Amino acid sequence: MNTLIRGALVAALVAMLAACAVPVSSVATAEPAATMMRTEVVWLGQSAFKITTPGGKVIVTDPWLRTNPLTPANYKQLDVFGRIDVLLVSHGHFDHIADAPALAQQYNVPIRAPGDLNQTLTTLGVLPANLLPRMNKGGTIEPVPGIKVTAVHAEHSSVYVWRNPVSNKDETHPGGEPVGWLIELENGFRIYHAGDTAAFGDMRLIGERFKPDLALVPIGGNFTMDPAEAAWAVKELLRPKAVIPMHYGANPLARGTAQQFIDAMGSSSVRVIVAVPGQPIPF
Ligand SMILES: [Zn+2]
Repeated sequence: MNTLIRGALVAALVAMLAACAVPVSSVATAEPAATMMRTEVVWLGQSAFKITTPGGKVIVTDPWLRTNPLTPANYKQLDVFGRIDVLLVSHGHFDHIADAPALAQQYNVPIRAPGDLNQTLTTLGVLPANLLPRMNKGGTIEPVPGIKVTAVHAEHSSVYVWRNPVSNKDETHPGGEPVGWLIELENGFRIYHAGDTAAFGDMRLIGERFKPDLALVPIGGNFTMDPAEAAWAVKELLRPKAVIPMHYGANPLARGTAQQFIDAMGSSSVRVIVAVPGQPIPF
């Protein structure tokens, strides 16, 4: 091999190594992004949401699905979720708890709900006690690693109506204090699920202390905030980066509409996202 050819081979080898070095280092820096997914929020009607976290966990809130007129047909099949890591129920009314016991059993996931509601479910034998842990407002729990959950005040009421299998009659049982939820995901993304509530002054505390990236607020009226009240609470008290209206369109008494909410938000800098049931919203 003459020196000219040898020189050319060495130069080619150096060029190859140099070319290799670039992708190797870029793969190394790209790795965290490949393992961390985005957050995905799917509205399932009323106050039910499926939230898929950046770490791939699934959070389900207030699951009224099988008889909810807004829930897409595929979500009425409860095995559609594949997995549920955190199951949150804000209070004992049917339009929030309806399918929670079935989901808890199917996915072997405890219902996180006001402690006195879970006590009622335990006493009635709705589920085994290990699926009904007690908690209350204040303090933060980490039901699965990386997901932080805090129960906060909600201005509402709560009972649990149960069909007694012996008498075949409905009975009304204590449903605990209704709550809203502060949910912080693995990457620090913060969601406030207001549950059913009127506006209340401590929403300012939630806004100042928790600084929600996303607020899920009821707008239907009659049972909860109406569009004007909700828009005022969002603009003046909660001040999230984005808001999704919920708890409208499924009960003829809750007449508030998304358009009324948009109009009431006016020129606010808060991003209003009108969710379509079943369609994922990325964050
Ligand atoms: Zn409700």
